Amino acid sequence: MYNFDFTRPTDLSAAVDALRGDGAQALGGGQTLIPVLKQRLAAPTTLVDLSGIDSLKGIRRMGDMLVIGGGTTHGAVAASGDVAAAIPGLVQLTSKIGDPQVRNRGTIGGSLANNDPAACYPAAALALGATIETNQREIAAEDFFQGLYATCLEDGEVITAVKFPIPAASTYQKFEQPASRFSLTSVFLAKMQDGSVRVGVTGAGADGVFRHEGLEQALSSDFSASAVDGVSVSAEGMSNDLHATPEYRANLVKVMTKRAVEAVT
Ligand SMILES: Cc1cc2nc3c(=O)[nH]c(=O)nc-3n(C[C@H](O)[C@H](O)[C@H](O)COP(=O)(O)OP(=O)(O)OC[C@H]3O[C@@H](n4cnc5c(N)ncnc54)[C@H](O)[C@@H]3O)c2cc1C
Repeated sequence: MYNFDFTRPTDLSAAVDALRGDGAQALGGGQTLIPVLKQRLAAPTTLVDLSGIDSLKGIRRMGDMLVIGGGTTHGAVAASGDVAAAIPGLVQLTSKIGDPQVRNRGTIGGSLANNDPAACYPAAALALGATIETNQREIAAEDFFQGLYATCLEDGEVITAVKFPIPAASTYQKFEQPASRFSLTSVFLAKMQDGSVRVGVTGAGADGVFRHEGLEQALSSDFSASAVDGVSVSAEGMSNDLHATPEYRANLVKVMTKRAVEAVT
């Protein structure tokens, strides 16, 4: 690790001020950033720890939206009765992230900002059509993710909350890479209040998280596992690594989508 200064503000405006400094970087739960620093792959001059800011934490229902503070841990989401009642897919998703330590420190803001191609939350944000709120603006999930580890966040911009429309049904079907427990290929399926179906896929795309239009169209007109059989999922654009070929991942997209449909019918 290189030397850096450390500050732990208790309000958002102080954090935003600190992040204006040259080389300053936000620290969420540190579950990704600390290992990166240990390997000397990043060298911020100041770490601005967001964990002391109470206004970034918490879960509330606002009409037909579920709002999760950017500093809310995966564990808090997994344990929330409000989330279980409104979007059970998010409880399934967060309860399978890493291990208890990762869930008790890692945050939704850190996960979305990091946009790891195998992370779980980006699939939910895309499938549900979430809005990412920052200290500067509101960003549609469709515009937020911009390829591997890339988002449209500007330097020093802080995710303050994520607004999820409450769907009629939701589920997250995760196929884990057994060593890391990240997604090899996982699917977040949301049946929206208007009957349309949205399918977010993580772990599979060479360009990161994506929605699968063919599956969405088929399931929006016939919400059944057999409708998935009629959809062709191309291996083109899927990741290829030592864990799985593009063809294997393409097949998993269908398998996990079928499981998702069966889970909510
Ligand atoms: C062993 C292990 C297993 C894991 N398994 C999974 C898994 O199965 N699925 C999964 O999805 N994830 C998994 N993770 C990652 C985990 O979810 C992390 O919590 C997450 O990637 C980063 O969140 P964090 O709050 O720890 O962010 P940090 O590590 O603190 O920060 C990550 C990045 O986000 C930025 N950042 C942090 N908070 C904010 C904010 N509010 N606004 C703007 N930028 C911010 C930081 O500057 C940094 O660039 C795993 C991690 C470990 C160590």
